[in-house]
Parts: sequence; C-alpha cells; structure tokens
Amino acid sequence: MSNALPTSLMSALIEESLDAVLIIDEHCRIRYANQSLQTLCGCTESELMGQPLEALLPGATAPYHTDYVREYAIRHKSGTAIPVEMKALDLGEHDGLRYFGAFLEDLRPRRRMEEQNEALLARLEQEAMTDVLTGIANRRAFEAEAAQMMARSRRTGKPVAVGIADIDHFKNINDEHGHPVGDIVLRTVASRIVDAARATDFVARIGGEEFGLLFPETPPETAIGIAQRIREAVAASPIPADGAEMPATISIGLATMTPGSELDDALASADSALYTAKNGGRNRVEAA
Ligand code: GH3
Ligand code: MG
Ligand code: MG
Repeated sequence: MSNALPTSLMSALIEESLDAVLIIDEHCRIRYANQSLQTLCGCTESELMGQPLEALLPGATAPYHTDYVREYAIRHKSGTAIPVEMKALDLGEHDGLRYFGAFLEDLRPRRRMEEQNEALLARLEQEAMTDVLTGIANRRAFEAEAAQMMARSRRTGKPVAVGIADIDHFKNINDEHGHPVGDIVLRTVASRIVDAARATDFVARIGGEEFGLLFPETPPETAIGIAQRIREAVAASPIPADGAEMPATISIGLATMTPGSELDDALASADSALYTAKNGGRNRVEAA
C-alpha cells in the first residue's frame, strides 16, 4: 500500500471539515477558505479569495507567526467578532511563494458549554450550602462562614460570638399536631431568627430544631443583647399553622470565639450554656 492517495481526496476532506480551514500566502492574502470558514465569517468564496488576511480580523492585525495554536477572533461580515481557536502552520514554498495554513475552530459552542457548566456549578454550590426545609444556610455553610469570620477575627483581634438556638419542647408540637405542622413552625422560627439578626450576622440550621448563630466582631455583652432580641422575636406572637396558633419559644446558649480558638470548642461551650437555659425554664438566653 505504498501508493499515495490523490490530493483531490485530501482537498475534499478539508473542504468538508467542520474546522474552518484557511490558506494564505506570504503576502497574507487569502488563497483558500473551506465551507466552514465561509459560513463562520459569512462571506462567499469569491468575496474572500485574494483578500488580505486583515479583512478577516477584527481591529488591528496581529503579527502572524507560524506553527502555533492560540485563541483568536475573526470578523464576521456583519461586524461581530467570533472567537476561534487557530492552529496555524507553515506549509512551505510552492512555485516561489510561501504559504501558511490554519484550522479555525468556532469557540462559541465551547464557551456556551463552559458558561452553562459554571452556572450549574454555582447552583450546586448554592444548594450544597442551603437547608432544604427552611431555605436558610445549612451546617456546612455555617462551618465555612465560621472559618471565614475566624480568619478575619485573627486579623482584627475582635471576637466572634457563637450561639445555638434550640426550639423549646418542639417534640410536643410534632406529637400533638403532626410533623407537617412542626415543619411550618420550623420554617417560621428560622425566618424570625434571620429577620431579627443583624445583616452581618449569620444564621444556619445546624440540626433538627437547632440553629447556629455567628455574630462577627461582637463582644459577649453585645451578643447577649442581640440573642435576647432574637428570642423575643420568636416568642412575640404564636405561629399560625394548619388553622391553629402555635406558641413557640427558643432557648439560646452563647459562647465567644477568641482569635485562635476552635469552632467545636465554642459550640460545646454554647451547648452547655443552652443546657443551663433549658434547665432554667427555657425561653431564655445564657452565656458560657
Ligand atoms: P427541649 O425544649 O429540651 O429542646 O425539648 P425538645 O422537645 O425540643 O427536644 P427534643 O430534642 O426532645 O426534640 C426535638 C424534636 O425535633 C424531635 C424531632 O422529632 C424534631 N425534629 C427534628 N427535625 C425535624 C424536622 O425536620 N421536622 C419536624 N417536624 N420535626 C423535627
Ligand atoms: Mg435540640
Ligand atoms: Mg428543642
């Protein structure tokens, strides 16, 4: 099988290639443009033949080097710049003239795909950080936010207050009115806590009927004041659910993370303060 294939076969293949194919001579004049290139730039073969390469390029002509791959743009007849990946090669001399060839791939489908992937990734990240029932941040988001606040706290030297808010006697609500009513109460408590917190505070559902609170740059006395406001906002009025009015209260345990301390330690301290609040009669705030 040493017989070389006729060049007409190669020409036919290149003519039909999905990549846009271009040949220019050493004077940068277009000498060949396949179907794909004509479609890409919206020009007919006769409009392109013999034209300077600049006719295809948006704006200033870039220096033309041989044998390279790079992202580039060509100009469509309508004036739009179309991003392409260009694989250019030196085709050598022929009848005293030097020729250069290029394969151009329309990058728009790839770009569209990349944009879609980015949007999908952003949505997945958002979903991975959100509690499905209440729509507020989840435990994973809480931990990520705590790490960020602590990093800032190390720079500023200011403490971060950490709290756990737990719904009082929530099991009774479920037992007496059913799980769906319990879910409504959970959602309402979540939104009341978020509304009562400051814009810079962070609220997440970190367990069944437990919410994690992060107050950045907040000394303990201030934290107690905010926690009291949150507690009052929940208790302020009964929660309408399933035609009934559900009184709901929360107890809050607070701790302070100083620069260098661990979230787990602060949560353990907040949890023991919460225990004190429950033992002290519930609907109250205690600080470690
Ligand atoms: P305490 O005042 O001591 O906190 O009493 P409690 O009844 O709130 O505490 P306990 O831990 O005994 O009960 C928590 C209940 O929360 C039990 C569980 O069924 C309920 N729960 C956890 N997650 C959900 C949920 O997603 N939806 C509903 N409806 N209930 C939940
Ligand atoms: Mg609990
Ligand atoms: Mg509870």
